Amino acid sequence: MDKYRVKPGTRVRLKDCDPDDTDGYKKGDGISKKIEKTELAVNQLQELLYAEHKHGLLIVLQAMDTAGKDGTISHVFDTMNPQGVRVASFKAPTPEELSHDFLWRIHEQTPSKGEVVIFNRSHYEDVLVVRVHNLVPKAVWKRRYAIINNFERALADEGTTILKFFLHISQDEQKKRLQERLDDPTKHWKFNPSDLAERKLWPDYMQAYEDSISATSTPWAPWYIVPSNKKWYRNLVVASTLEKSLKALNMHYPEPVDDLSKVVIE
Ligand code: ATP
Ligand code: MG
Repeated sequence: MDKYRVKPGTRVRLKDCDPDDTDGYKKGDGISKKIEKTELAVNQLQELLYAEHKHGLLIVLQAMDTAGKDGTISHVFDTMNPQGVRVASFKAPTPEELSHDFLWRIHEQTPSKGEVVIFNRSHYEDVLVVRVHNLVPKAVWKRRYAIINNFERALADEGTTILKFFLHISQDEQKKRLQERLDDPTKHWKFNPSDLAERKLWPDYMQAYEDSISATSTPWAPWYIVPSNKKWYRNLVVASTLEKSLKALNMHYPEPVDDLSKVVIE
């Protein structure tokens, strides 16, 4: 799964990243067993993270509409104990949020020790939608890359593990998924006409994603470009990456306060 990690300093070209890639796996292939096994491992590691109370885990999800942020979130949630997990969703900023620096609303949502937080959109919107729609001058969004890297470095140095996932779908796949929403009355609530306007800006968004990911994939906060045309493969990549990163923390359950071997329960 490491092949989807963007090595620091690499120039990303999304055209070279196949959103249909499944690394040779096919749907039947015992894949649900493999996903289940990985998710069970993640579940145990998350419990350890919660018990040890030493690290926080921040999962950043960014993607074009319909790419599966919501589906990924419910999958990650399925693997974890709801006590230690939370989602923070970032929509267009309120006037109050806009009157502060762009990280103000972000910082307060970052995980505490022992906690897992999933960002459904994030501070990256401030170098993506903001750039595509010219909401601030170029000089402003450009210098944000360095601000973001420093911010994430500070979080990492203080005990937060940061994993950033770009769920990569093709424009054709988006068309299919939008059409499905139109065709199914139970999915109408998910259909947002403004998604069509954003879809027209696809090339601009791809450019903005390429530049942002290239500038901000760091050793302390790597980006993963997840092939997401196949939902099952997307789930496998995300779950495997979580497992590997949590394992690398080399966590231990805290020592009991007293020598428990002498405890007798009457
Ligand atoms: P999603 O589209 O994430 O599944 P949703 O449809 O429930 O969620 P929307 O009402 O589309 O929510 O809200 C997300 C919108 O907010 C997106 O269009 C996104 O680009 C925008 N947004 C998020 N952060 C910012 C920001 N910092 N500046 C401007 N717009 C932002
Ligand atoms: Mg939306």
